[in-house]
Amino acid sequence: MCGVFGIHGHEEAANLAYLGLHALQHRGQESSGLVAGDKALRREVAMGLVSDVFDEKVLARLPGAAAIGHTRYSTSGSSELRNAQPFLFDYAGGSIAIAHNGNLVNIDELRSRLEAAGSIFQTTSDTEAIVHLMAKVPEFDPVVRLTHALRQVEGAYSLVILTDGKLIGVRDPHGFRPLVIGRLKDSYVLSSETSAFDLIEAEYIRDVEPGEIVVIDERGLSSHRVVATEPEPAQFCVFEHVYFARPDSLVNGKSVYRARERMGKRLAIEQPAEGDVVIAVPDSGVPAAIGYAAQSGIPFEMGLIRSHYVGRTFIEPQDSIRHFGVRLKLSPVRSVVDGKRVVVVDDSLVRGTTSRKIVKMLRAAGAREVHLRISAPPTTHPCFYGIDTPNRSELVAASHTVDEIARYVTCDSLGYLSHEGLMGAVGGSSATATGGGYCSACFTGNYPVPLGRRQNGALVPLRRTTV
Ligand code: 5GP
Ligand code: SF4
Ligand code: MG
Repeated sequence: MCGVFGIHGHEEAANLAYLGLHALQHRGQESSGLVAGDKALRREVAMGLVSDVFDEKVLARLPGAAAIGHTRYSTSGSSELRNAQPFLFDYAGGSIAIAHNGNLVNIDELRSRLEAAGSIFQTTSDTEAIVHLMAKVPEFDPVVRLTHALRQVEGAYSLVILTDGKLIGVRDPHGFRPLVIGRLKDSYVLSSETSAFDLIEAEYIRDVEPGEIVVIDERGLSSHRVVATEPEPAQFCVFEHVYFARPDSLVNGKSVYRARERMGKRLAIEQPAEGDVVIAVPDSGVPAAIGYAAQSGIPFEMGLIRSHYVGRTFIEPQDSIRHFGVRLKLSPVRSVVDGKRVVVVDDSLVRGTTSRKIVKMLRAAGAREVHLRISAPPTTHPCFYGIDTPNRSELVAASHTVDEIARYVTCDSLGYLSHEGLMGAVGGSSATATGGGYCSACFTGNYPVPLGRRQNGALVPLRRTTV
């Protein structure tokens, strides 16, 4: 997961893109970057949060009427400066800057092929391959080059590109990751989420469609297709609704807050609990807990307080820090939980380490019973489309039953939302294997884009390049 942003036709392009990145910070905290300019492009990227990387002086080095930006959470390629985006290259077509949210599943094959033909990669990120592929197309028009390149890549990509005075936005034909179009007076803006539009007071127009390439230049916005054939069935990532996106955003045209609240309501119906108080694991569990409380009639209170000075738990790659991070981030409110039967609602349970710590903390603060409710189904499979879920061996639900997980996290009861319940809450259907319009492979194992590559006729699983 990453955040991408783009703006075209505004004299304060870099400043506005900087603000946009602030509203996408929750999508990635490892590195932040901007590229801005007109025909000549300049780049400023560094490891760290948007507020650490940019100040007045740095932004002053980014003049021009167009800009793209990126907040990174590494999924392919390690967490280091050379993989920080946007990338900026010079090739036969001039300067090109690119920022990517997603993961290309056929990257190993693409990279070996390109390297065998002489390409020299500067990064270990999959995004760079798209530019190498573009460079090989003997055409002048960057959109034609891009279309040819994208027909060779598979997997998840929402891209923003600056080249030839144009801002280009793309979503892969399945539409795994979000990308929205907005207007700010005479300029167009692109963003992973509408939260960035609200901040800069831009108006949300619509989502970039799966398989659509939008080109924004001085003549306005034009729309092209990645592939000329019938659109593939959409496979928007349902986990954006469960966890990634900010609750004040619209993703896939729907309010994230309301979707989470509905997950909580359905969870209360499917997995009732005898409790005195409903509390949330903040921040991502809050709307679902509010829904659970409203449906069950059990009062909602703030039983856990989150320190906002610590990043999302998974960000620290080493286990030792991750374990410590939970206590650093969350602390129980004794006056809310002491002597009570506590229903605690979280959005997902991945490794189970967070929940285990939370149950312990709540008991230490006096909770008489702890009933854990998860507003998503068990996470049984890793994601290959741009989200850093761990390997299968680390996913507790991949190898344990609900009872076993409850014993591991030491709660009095554990209940998950069903797949049907989740699909109902986001307005999809579970009639198809993958869930009608949504990817939900991390809950079902039904991967919409095959994850292997063919080698001598056999399907070889892809190596994961995640840190
Ligand atoms: P666990 O300890 O079970 O692995 O972590 C579960 C917690 O991690 C939940 O509170 C959930 O909000 C959060 N979470 C789920 N998926 C992700 C992810 O991909 N990245 C980050 N940073 N947190 C996640
Ligand atoms: Fe989203 Fe899960 Fe599909 Fe990955 S596998 S794209 S996290 S729904
Ligand atoms: Mg959480």
